Amino acid sequence: MTAAEGSPAPLRVNGGRLWKRHMDIARIGAIAGDGCCRLAMTPEDAEARRLLAEWGRAANMEMRVDRAGNMIFLRPGADPARLPVASGSHLDTQPHGGRFDGISGVLAALEVVETLNDAGIETVAPLAVVNWTNEEGVRFAPGLTGSGWYAGFLDDGALDNAPTLEGSCFAEEAERLGWRGADGPAAVRFDSFFELHIEQGPILEQAGRRIGVVESIQGLVWLDVEVRGRDGHAGTTPMDSRSDALLASARMLVALSEIGRAQPDARVSVGQFLPGTDGPSTIMGDVRFVIDVRHPDPATLSLLARRCSEACVVEARTAGCEATVEQRVEISPTRLDANCVSAVENAAALLGESAMRMASGALHDTCNIAEGTPAAMIFVPCRDGISHNVAEYASPEDLAAGASVLLHAMLARAGTA
Ligand SMILES: [Zn+2]
Repeated sequence: MTAAEGSPAPLRVNGGRLWKRHMDIARIGAIAGDGCCRLAMTPEDAEARRLLAEWGRAANMEMRVDRAGNMIFLRPGADPARLPVASGSHLDTQPHGGRFDGISGVLAALEVVETLNDAGIETVAPLAVVNWTNEEGVRFAPGLTGSGWYAGFLDDGALDNAPTLEGSCFAEEAERLGWRGADGPAAVRFDSFFELHIEQGPILEQAGRRIGVVESIQGLVWLDVEVRGRDGHAGTTPMDSRSDALLASARMLVALSEIGRAQPDARVSVGQFLPGTDGPSTIMGDVRFVIDVRHPDPATLSLLARRCSEACVVEARTAGCEATVEQRVEISPTRLDANCVSAVENAAALLGESAMRMASGALHDTCNIAEGTPAAMIFVPCRDGISHNVAEYASPEDLAAGASVLLHAMLARAGTA
């Protein structure tokens, strides 16, 4: 039976309240151009945490804080033996960050609970709302810290001693700000985890869809490349007697881009490029750069990395140089849980929201959580695909639609009492 035939319209979240919460949080650490600067474990972060804690308390949730400063709010279910169905993201931002990256995921999860409170709906499994600490990795590199520790990728010592640029460490900073809790990572485990996030790319906007049903998070490989030629005099060395490492590198950059373009869903980039010499009349004898390779499929990611390495060696030789390539970082792609992904897809269909399956281009806390817990992600469009930018924007309508999809995905998993 369709809604037109008399069945009640499916429950939706309160989009106005969700938007207002975004604007309230955005005042903390506000910077010019509608942006935010709220680095993890700074006074700004602490203030945003206090506000969230207040909202959690008003929504009748118990708050737990663990050693990593992760905030976990619990809403009881009818069956206390069930593990909570959880959702959340992060409140910290980039130094020139926006109002939505991470924040939307925390506030959408809170909004799910508030909507259920308003509607007087009890779930069978408990629910949890989570704020993961230091996702962005600006103050404590490399990021995804709270979720990484929770998932067991980071031990207590590595967490506590994670240094800041100012010379203190995570434990000191968290203690000083009052956000170092007692819970270990095993204190609260989850049945499942859902993370709503802005897409941070242009795909949904270009496709005219509102909901991204994220089924994988692409993996990443970094390749360190060293190109060795011979420093030379720009005036006396004939063109065919040179070992120009810069010219060899230029050939490599073109070849690498072509490798990326030839493989669907691949991303191949060179973001860091270090010339060995810096004189206008010197033929460059040494260049180092880093190739960032990404793909959602593990076998294709390995294949791409191999092709990139081979291309560097071949192009170096063609230019009379030598190249060595070493793999520095490898993060495997994450395949999200098929049942959780379906729960998101079904929720979008129930609500009549246009949706498409997609891979996440960026890493998220869900990468860590998905290792031990069934997990999925929901993307909503962000204007022009822009994020990590003060101009980052998601519309109130898209955020509300995403939060309503989250609501029904969590309800499907937790069950209604
Ligand atoms: Zn984020």
